[in-house]
Amino acid sequence: MSMEPVNSGVAAEPAESPDVADAGAAPEAPTLGQLMLAVEELWPESLAEEWDEVGLVAGHPSAEITRVMFAVDPTLEVIDEAIEWGAELLITHHPLLLKGVTSVAANTPKGKAVHRLIESGTALLTVHTNGDSAVGGVSDVLADALGLQDVAPLTRAANGLPEEGIGRVGDLAEAMTLGDFAARVYGILPSVAGGVRVSGDKDGLVRRIAVCGGAGDSLFDEVRASGADLYVTADLRHHAASEAREAAVNDRPYLIDVSHFASEWLWLPAAADALGNVLADQGLDVDIRVSSTNSDPWDFILTPGGD
Ligand SMILES: [Zn+2]
Repeated sequence: MSMEPVNSGVAAEPAESPDVADAGAAPEAPTLGQLMLAVEELWPESLAEEWDEVGLVAGHPSAEITRVMFAVDPTLEVIDEAIEWGAELLITHHPLLLKGVTSVAANTPKGKAVHRLIESGTALLTVHTNGDSAVGGVSDVLADALGLQDVAPLTRAANGLPEEGIGRVGDLAEAMTLGDFAARVYGILPSVAGGVRVSGDKDGLVRRIAVCGGAGDSLFDEVRASGADLYVTADLRHHAASEAREAAVNDRPYLIDVSHFASEWLWLPAAADALGNVLADQGLDVDIRVSSTNSDPWDFILTPGGD
């Protein structure tokens, strides 16, 4: 299944850097090891949550990299797209192997993925909660796309700067209705089946907005403490949403629930641009592209409730 992303899945073409010592030298392709240093500069592994598994999953650090593809999920469809394009490196947000395994036999989905990567010579690198937490990370991009200002993390990173951490909260320049803001959320997301679910008074005003790309139902205490009028996140289950609404003060925070994949997909073009810029500054040239595969597991929706 292929998607037509709103932000057109962009290839970041790094420009030749003016900082290169020998201005006449043609940009070179980096090794995987050099590329990993650029990734570490943007999304340090020390920012990852303790339970997370980030970094290199497959690949030789000495391998030359000319093409890099960014994607949300390392599904077989995404891996095949990367191989077909000729990417020597696939960078995904979600880990392929988060839990311990005792086999990567090719008769299991994850084993098949590992085999395809190694047999095709395609490296796989994970930038997960380190990509959430960093400045310019998943929730930062989401906050920016929604027009939030004076943005700060919902939870500070244990090993980071004050502006690093999970989730973001910020303010709109002017208050708007929940209905209008929901339309704004709808307008920035790539086309997926899930749509935008809203809890709250359509005509109620919102100005202070908390966001967390991906599953954010562990952050309700931080959202309440931030004084947000509205919390935008993904994967909100019945009890978490219901209890948060029961605990609302002055009916706030309202809730908006979106597709997990869509909320994180927004980060990919920004990440591709950022990596292209870091490499170009070092005189390194790589063709970077965002995957056009829609790996949201949901394909269609029936809405008997109407609007
Ligand atoms: Zn996620």
